[in-house]
Amino acid sequence: MRFSEFSLTTLKEVPAEAEIVSHQLMLRAGLIRRLASGLFTWMPLGLRVLRKVEAVVREEMDRAGALELLMPAVQPAELWQESGRWDKYGPLLLRMQDRHQRDYCFGPTHEEVITDVARKELRSYKQLPVNYYQIQTKFRDEIRPRFGVMRSREFIMKDAYSFDIDEAGLEASYQKMHAAYTAIFKRLGLIFRVVDADSGEIGGSRSQEFHVLADSGEDAIAYCDDDNYAANIESAATLPPEGTRAAATAELTKVETPAARSIDALCDMLAVTAQQTLKTLIVEGTDGPVALALRGDHELNAVKAQKIPGVATPLTMADAETVRKVTGCEPGFAGPIGLDIPVFYDHATANMADFVCGANESDMHYTGTNIGRDIEAVATVDLRNVVSGDPTPGGNGTLSITRGIEVGHIFQLGDKYSQAMNATVQDSEGKDSVMSMGCYGIGITRIVGAAIEQNHDDNGIVWPAPLAPFDVVLVPINMHRSDTVREAAEALYEELQNAGLDVLFDDRNTRPGVMFADAELIGVPHRLVISERGLQAGELEYRQRSDEESRNLKREAALNLLKESVIS
Ligand code: ATP
Ligand code: MG
Repeated sequence: MRFSEFSLTTLKEVPAEAEIVSHQLMLRAGLIRRLASGLFTWMPLGLRVLRKVEAVVREEMDRAGALELLMPAVQPAELWQESGRWDKYGPLLLRMQDRHQRDYCFGPTHEEVITDVARKELRSYKQLPVNYYQIQTKFRDEIRPRFGVMRSREFIMKDAYSFDIDEAGLEASYQKMHAAYTAIFKRLGLIFRVVDADSGEIGGSRSQEFHVLADSGEDAIAYCDDDNYAANIESAATLPPEGTRAAATAELTKVETPAARSIDALCDMLAVTAQQTLKTLIVEGTDGPVALALRGDHELNAVKAQKIPGVATPLTMADAETVRKVTGCEPGFAGPIGLDIPVFYDHATANMADFVCGANESDMHYTGTNIGRDIEAVATVDLRNVVSGDPTPGGNGTLSITRGIEVGHIFQLGDKYSQAMNATVQDSEGKDSVMSMGCYGIGITRIVGAAIEQNHDDNGIVWPAPLAPFDVVLVPINMHRSDTVREAAEALYEELQNAGLDVLFDDRNTRPGVMFADAELIGVPHRLVISERGLQAGELEYRQRSDEESRNLKREAALNLLKESVIS
């Protein structure tokens, strides 16, 4: 590609709307342009990267025996009513009507459509296993689209769905996808981790996520290499604490805590640590509000909380009016003593003694609170996020926390959809048998952002070679004044292209500094500088994007190096 014909506008300034580096660099390098909230155009340069991701994904899916198809993006409501998700999916689902006032949605995922395909298409166990996949546009009306293509509303997903005669078949199909995903993320040159996950909206039994590790990742991952454990913090279980509760030493005392609505303010006022406090959160329940009680320094885990019978899904904090009604005081002073609604206590509260909690009176707390004396001792539940240093669920190590970007997710769905939608085949005895399903997603567009989060420096993107929009950039110095340089550059351009490389030939009549800066910003892995002085010595200046220094190489040596690096 000749740069002069590529119409690329790079930006020097960091765009104000972009919070994280990948979003900034994608805008600056001209990979994407924003249309509206969570909607982006993939510009020619960005699309080249996207196509490379797709190609690797497609190759590995095909290699794993999956069959590509393409389903409609728009889906009739009837299918979602059949699976029961039309009402459950909530505001993430973009709903619409056609001219006959029939309901449709823009697909956020395709379990319903593929199950409909499978129940019509597959008749006999002899046709199984089957794994269908597509690479296609999804829409999810995210509450907070951000980070550019990383959490957008419209995005491209590779979604695959396996159909098996039984659980054992599903397990085999699932493991195949596990292996294919591992191969994909390795080939893309990304540092990633596979973690146990919650199955969320999609449902089913077992699921694992593939995370690209990056400090800016939205997900926290708890892991322990010694215990061979890794899980999304959403689903990493906590254990009830070891040992026994210390005996009460303090009297229950009501103290004034004016305006101490937060744990921090309370700790300052009473000179206690957050560990010595109990926070009581009033949330919506299925049968009126309920309370969740946690140690002050712990974070509530919404995924765990909404699984507790009696707690409403999705987890919703009670509004101020409800809090006033159930506690008789202003929000910020709720506590379990005398509270007349169900209270669920986190495991970690079991060993607390002499602690501080709200008194259900405005501007008042209790100190010296004790379980068994002031509050009835009850069975505790897992309500909080694990923290660094917690024991692993197996109990054989301690957890560390790192951050990741979810780029893939594999699920064992079992018969959740096939049962609801009656997707059966005849088994070996001629009886109808509900198929076992798995589903497997990869965020194609998100991968591009995630790759940049992991691979950049102060000057721009440093693409892992398999993702780079171009393999090599040619930077001729003063080509518009020197025929020698022009001829040498044109010949190189020709020869490298013939060798199968994607070449960006910077033939613009502009300063070398501008060309260098653009080449670094867009992250081309290899650069060759062609100058009159170099040519006189039969040399080209070569630099790898990830290297500090450039080196002079004989023309042949430079060409061989490039051909080898790109082909290997
Ligand atoms: P998240 O937890 O990040 O919202 P999810 O678990 O809801 O994602 P899945 O249903 O597992 O997403 O979808 C499969 C893959 O699609 C995800 O692993 C992710 O890579 C990608 N994906 C999901 N939502 C988005 C989005 N809003 N923007 C870009 N990619 C997305
Ligand atoms: Mg997911």
